[in-house]
Amino acid sequence: MDTLITNVTAVTMAPGAEVLFGVNIGITDGKIEFISKKVPEEMPHTIIEGTGMVAMPGLINCHTHLATSVLRCFTDDLSNREALEALLQKEAKMDSRGAKAAALLSIAECLRFGVTSVSDLYYYPNATAQAVAESGIKANLALSSYRFIDENEEFDFETDEQCQELQRIVDKWHGYDNGRIKIDAGIYSEYTSNYPLWEALAGYASEKGLGLQLHLAEARNEVDSCLDRTGMTPGELLACHRLFAVPATAAGCAYLEPEEAKMLGKKKASAVALPLSAAKNGQHCAPITDLVKAGMNVALGTDGAIQAGNLDMFEVMRGAAMSVRAAKEDPSALPSSAALLMATYCGAQAQGRSRECGMLKEGMDADLVLVDFTAPHLMPCHNVLTGLVYAAKGGDVAMTMVRGKILYQNGKFPTIDLNAVVEELTTYAIPKLFEKEETNVG
Ligand SMILES: [Zn+2]
Repeated sequence: MDTLITNVTAVTMAPGAEVLFGVNIGITDGKIEFISKKVPEEMPHTIIEGTGMVAMPGLINCHTHLATSVLRCFTDDLSNREALEALLQKEAKMDSRGAKAAALLSIAECLRFGVTSVSDLYYYPNATAQAVAESGIKANLALSSYRFIDENEEFDFETDEQCQELQRIVDKWHGYDNGRIKIDAGIYSEYTSNYPLWEALAGYASEKGLGLQLHLAEARNEVDSCLDRTGMTPGELLACHRLFAVPATAAGCAYLEPEEAKMLGKKKASAVALPLSAAKNGQHCAPITDLVKAGMNVALGTDGAIQAGNLDMFEVMRGAAMSVRAAKEDPSALPSSAALLMATYCGAQAQGRSRECGMLKEGMDADLVLVDFTAPHLMPCHNVLTGLVYAAKGGDVAMTMVRGKILYQNGKFPTIDLNAVVEELTTYAIPKLFEKEETNVG
């Protein structure tokens, strides 16, 4: 036996065994061997004292843009148009070296806050994949394709620059380390691309068995503009061009029509609610319970650090539950167990990982976190599930483990040299973005 966590309260998220008190968790070869009161005969290599701790499945952040942490707090008080212009201006100066450093910073933040797997939709996927590979976290990485192809333009998936980049990263990274990294196809959104690209990506993703990530129906004007142009909602239009032929992870979904949500549910698309980044940007959160009733799998995400401020999925769970309760004017509209389920099992399902993680169960990967429930704001705790959603914060995570390997514990990141990452950001990545400009960043 490699690791034994002793005398812990386990929130398993497994059906019928939600909370187990005073159990031991045995971990061998990266997998959970048992969760029970039993004491193993064999001496484990490592013993982690779990008294006062709550063990839970690692959180799954289903929508982020890891490399945008280099621009954290740069556009927070601007209008959406001003923020987008500022972001585009800086993105034009980014490169893969800076993107890797920023991705590592974001991964450290994810691990610090108990996230064991992320879905990333951005540029520089090769650099991000290197950061993921080094850090030990799990990730579904998508290249955010954006491109309008003119009717008269000759478009060939095999020779198109963005499509070639996708093919290269699929060949290099898809399935890396027994599936720790998966590559998804991706488009930024309906309004930044058109149908030849959608059809080509859908065909390629089907052939290679990839998922697909996109932003969908995040803002009302996005939906209205598509209706004006085409007479269809963005989801309907994309479906006409087979984009949902593969399991899609659609971030936003705040303004889906009821029939559109049903259609997406039938096509096995997952919605990712972004309660905090949506509210911060003056938009609604996805109508979570309505989407679930329509048959969609609903997961949670932070969005990038530039959009959200931070990557704390505990805040997101709380925000998701509160947004539903406020919208329905009913405090029983979304129980805490549902918020936890969205951040764990439903996230794993969206990533195509529900057989390997998303709950604490014998035989599954040991992707788990320990939350320190001895802090003043977590005592007394009459209900562990509501305590995790309404009282705990990302900073209460004491340990994060992926496949049985500790990636964060008590302030330390065994796989990430955080000082070197900060040095790279302050001496290379940030100066490159802000060269010849006044800056108070860094
Ligand atoms: Zn986003």
